[in-house]
Amino acid sequence: MGRMRLVVVGAGGRMGRVLTRVVTETEGADVVAAVDREGTDVLGQDVGELAGVGELGVQVTDDPLTAFAKADGVLDFTAPAASLWFAELAAQARIVHVIGTTGWAEGEDKPLHAAARHARIIKSGNMSLGVNMLAALVRKAAAALDSDFDIEVLEMHHKHKVDAPSGTALLLGEAAAKGRGIDLSAHSVRSRDGIMEPRTAGDIGFATLRGGSVIGEHSVIFAGEGERIELTHRSEDRQLFARGAVKAALWGFDQKPGFYSMADVLGLDA
Ligand code: NAD
Repeated sequence: MGRMRLVVVGAGGRMGRVLTRVVTETEGADVVAAVDREGTDVLGQDVGELAGVGELGVQVTDDPLTAFAKADGVLDFTAPAASLWFAELAAQARIVHVIGTTGWAEGEDKPLHAAARHARIIKSGNMSLGVNMLAALVRKAAAALDSDFDIEVLEMHHKHKVDAPSGTALLLGEAAAKGRGIDLSAHSVRSRDGIMEPRTAGDIGFATLRGGSVIGEHSVIFAGEGERIELTHRSEDRQLFARGAVKAALWGFDQKPGFYSMADVLGLDA
């Protein structure tokens, strides 16, 4: 197989710019097209200039159809509605679609499974090795500790983040629920305010902090009587996610169509 031709969608975004930079530093992959939203001021600009790596001769367009036709894979950190549309186009083009987008409403990502009949879709709320390792540890701890240990997921992100709890917090909550053998949606507490019933045993709670430039911090706390276990991950650089996404794209290059997670890419499915 030759070099992998990649499209960066959301190329003007925080993650989009880092993705472009990481692809240029990666052996065996090139940015062949870049896409962003209709009407944004990055349209027509050189994607390399935007990413701070010098001119690449690839201008940002708002035409994903043409971009996908000349590519082997798509790197997508945008918004749920956009990612659904890109998945349809990736299925038509029968290419790899790496989705880092978060903020999905319950069931909103269902059409991705249909698209995965033709596309190779790799979706994860967090593309870093460390967080996926943390998820595997959380699953193990939740399976080993009984419901006398209350599980709480605490996260902090920069002030610009629009979805809460973060995709990573939900991924960690899912891992805890899997370990316990329960359904997260039936046992999750997403907010607390005012006078309310005391905590129900077996619930998984989420707490969200927003502020400053924090790239992403997550703790899963197992609180028992008289003792507490805290498992924490701190992201120090967005490159972590971009490197994971590019690794996922290269991994997907020779997979069959299907729906995959970062745990599949990293061989972490414990
Ligand atoms: P951002 O707002 O800086 O960038 C999003 C980009 O997507 C913007 O350039 C926007 O114009 C573009 N976009 C939106 N709709 C589009 C459309 N219809 N067509 C083309 N482009 C479109 O946001 P960000 O900080 O880069 O984060 C993007 C997403 O990635 C968020 O959902 C965030 O939570 C998620 N994220 C995931 C991970 C992970 O590891 N999975 C890590 C970091 C961020």
